[in-house]
Amino acid sequence: MSESYAFIGLGHLGGNLAASLIRNGFAVTVFDRDPTAVERLVALGATAASSPADAAARAGNAISCLPSPKVSEAVLAGPGGLLEGLPKGGTWIEMSTNGRDEILRLAALASAKGVETLECPVTGGVHLAAAGKITALVGGDPALYARHRPAIEAMCAKSFLMGPVGSAAVIKVITNMLAFIHLVAAGEALMLARRGGLDLAQAYHAIVASSGNSFVHETESQLILNGSYDIGFTMDLALKDLCFALAMGKDFGVPLSLASHVKAIFEVGKQEYGGSAWSTQIVKLLEDTVGTDLRAPGFPAKLEL
Ligand code: NAD
Repeated sequence: MSESYAFIGLGHLGGNLAASLIRNGFAVTVFDRDPTAVERLVALGATAASSPADAAARAGNAISCLPSPKVSEAVLAGPGGLLEGLPKGGTWIEMSTNGRDEILRLAALASAKGVETLECPVTGGVHLAAAGKITALVGGDPALYARHRPAIEAMCAKSFLMGPVGSAAVIKVITNMLAFIHLVAAGEALMLARRGGLDLAQAYHAIVASSGNSFVHETESQLILNGSYDIGFTMDLALKDLCFALAMGKDFGVPLSLASHVKAIFEVGKQEYGGSAWSTQIVKLLEDTVGTDLRAPGFPAKLEL
């Protein structure tokens, strides 16, 4: 019989991950502080719970996908939290992006209550999550990974076991650090193309076929050219991840001059457009500075597979 799961945090990412579980036949009990997010999942076949503890007690295992380590801690170990509902031997699968120190600390809280942790942040963006094709980066015990692999594979096309809890946080933060550096670089590249008098759509396709291509250019540049910037991931989340990256640089003795510069750019982006603006809108800073936009016809407002 397949495991059943509580799912807490049904936002841009978590809502799509929980929907993939349901689509693949898993019993899913959901909770979110936003009732409309709960209603969306109930319409797909989820059962609603009254708290994280209630959801965890009904399911026996719990998945969370939340905006910050502070919220993850409250949902895990606060009043009415997952640890009040999970049985001994139950699993907490944390799919939020955390720093290494944060996930190690939270896993210790779970372990003290007899609950094992699998960290499982994901990478690839909301459009891949919606198709069940995002990539999972896993940290934890190999047997625990094997036990929950069917659920992970229902949500993700690929998964990589990186090592013990904490190791997935390291690689996840690295991949996002790269993505934000690539995003700022893609914006500068497109602006050079436009101001150099090129057709922007043709420049986009030439870069895709070039040695300067990146996943971020292939995906997010389309949203820049459309003007929607709608990647489903906010400036606040980008800044959270860049802070984790810089903290790791300090801890591991690695100077991160590019990441530091990109974080400073995102701080200005947040001041200009707000923390809940899409992270892709960071490129608008350059558009505003130069007084030239980066629009071109034929690109979608949202990414779809
Ligand atoms: P989001 O803000 O869209 O969703 C967060 C959800 O958590 C919301 O539905 C919110 O109502 C809920 N929530 C907040 N506090 C709560 C509480 N105390 N109790 C119950 N529910 C609560 O964020 P998101 O974009 O879905 O990201 C979630 C996590 O996944 C973050 O850690 C993010 O860094 C990571 N992530 C996001 C993406 C992406 O493309 N959006 C990609 C990879 C990783």
